[in-house]
Amino acid sequence: MDVQFIHHGAREGVTGSCHELKFPHGRSLIVDIGLFQGAETSGSSHHNRGSANHQEVDFPINHIDALVITHCHIDHVGRLPWLLMAGFRKPIYCTQATAHLLPMVIEDALKVGLTRDRGLIEGVLGVIERLLVPVEFDVWQRIDALDVSIRFRQAGHILGSAFVEVGIGSTSMPTSGTGFSLSQESDKRGQAEASPRVVFSGDLGCKNSPLLPDPAPLERADVLVLESTYGDKNHENRAERQERLQSVVEKCMRDRGTVLIPAFSIGRTQELLYELEDILFHERQNNPDWKDILVILDSPMAAKFTEKYKVMKSLWDQESKHRVSVNRHPLDFERLHVIDSHDEHQRIVHYLQQSGDPCIVIAASGMCTGGRMLNYLKALLPDSRTDVLFVGYQAQGTPGRDIQKYGPRCGYVELDHEKVWIKAGIHTLGGYSAHADQQELIEFVQTAEHIGQIRLVHGDSGAKSALAEKLRESGYEVCIP
Ligand SMILES: [Zn+2]
Ligand SMILES: [Zn+2]
Repeated sequence: MDVQFIHHGAREGVTGSCHELKFPHGRSLIVDIGLFQGAETSGSSHHNRGSANHQEVDFPINHIDALVITHCHIDHVGRLPWLLMAGFRKPIYCTQATAHLLPMVIEDALKVGLTRDRGLIEGVLGVIERLLVPVEFDVWQRIDALDVSIRFRQAGHILGSAFVEVGIGSTSMPTSGTGFSLSQESDKRGQAEASPRVVFSGDLGCKNSPLLPDPAPLERADVLVLESTYGDKNHENRAERQERLQSVVEKCMRDRGTVLIPAFSIGRTQELLYELEDILFHERQNNPDWKDILVILDSPMAAKFTEKYKVMKSLWDQESKHRVSVNRHPLDFERLHVIDSHDEHQRIVHYLQQSGDPCIVIAASGMCTGGRMLNYLKALLPDSRTDVLFVGYQAQGTPGRDIQKYGPRCGYVELDHEKVWIKAGIHTLGGYSAHADQQELIEFVQTAEHIGQIRLVHGDSGAKSALAEKLRESGYEVCIP
């Protein structure tokens, strides 16, 4: 197959996702346009920090006819304002839920990195609105300019997340939702003659994660661009991780400290609320003490997304829908307090520092690179009653990674150019990751009846090589670009 891949991000690390698929006629599409975070940058720049100043789109865009977005995490969409500043005005394809969530994410990215000017923000959002083409899951969408069709399939990673299939050429692309008739392609020759297909995994979710359905099975791919965040690890199962979450909460009840959970606004936060509701729901039946424990959601963004998750219940999995039907409110329970204003935020930080009341705080950012979580960490890391619970991936060079590394040896972390000594307990709950683990990535590949080549992206080098080795053992052709 005569196409070319250029990886403009998430090639050496996990952030800045942006993959270009260039066709023989010289035109391209790109999949995702993510922000670089922590120490990660595009390979071509020499900045050592992926700060807001180093996000310029540093590749040619005149030949790019479409942007396809897999999901609206900031490391997959955060450079969209910079892409527009570079002059991009082509259609942006994504699922309907992603189209719904995207303006909030972009507004936040703008405020953090570029401007707080209301007029400018409205301007950018207006341009995006005009370019967006929301597409239903499982339905082929034609892109005439490129002579391809694309289809979004459930990725089970966050609300609206998808992996995307690109069918090349017009001849055999079906227009309806069912895709190719696999029975007609069952023999290997038929396989090779079917229209070539490239698949971008985006971020793949775990099976059995709260709220969301499992990823859809992969049919086939001549080239699969596959994420490998946890290519070298297997997660605890969900029951174990809920037990560990419960034991940290119990410890918090005993020694009256705060549990700090740095979380991404979208995805983890809602899953955590879901599981905390479950733990509190059961414990309160026989333990009156638990009535005191307060869950604080201190992130205006996360609160807004939680509202969206509540509205889009149709995308929830069966278990979650069931809880609602028995009158429980997984994302909106008693003793859940949402903080909006900055004043209230500062009062709460101060109050917790003094009182040591048992309390669970969920705040952004997920890798402790900014946001309100920083104030909690500065105030509470030196307090041995505090526990910090990491539930998401911590990229190299982020304060989150440093706390994970130096916390357990009573070291320090630098926050806002200040040394903060760590006396708090540090815990990592791997099972809460939004990403498929090694076994699940391999199973995803194995569901396909044909795979030509696998290109591994979106992972540290250790994760990529571990996954590559496993896949090669099973006979797959693997490339690490
Ligand atoms: Zn993601
Ligand atoms: Zn990602």
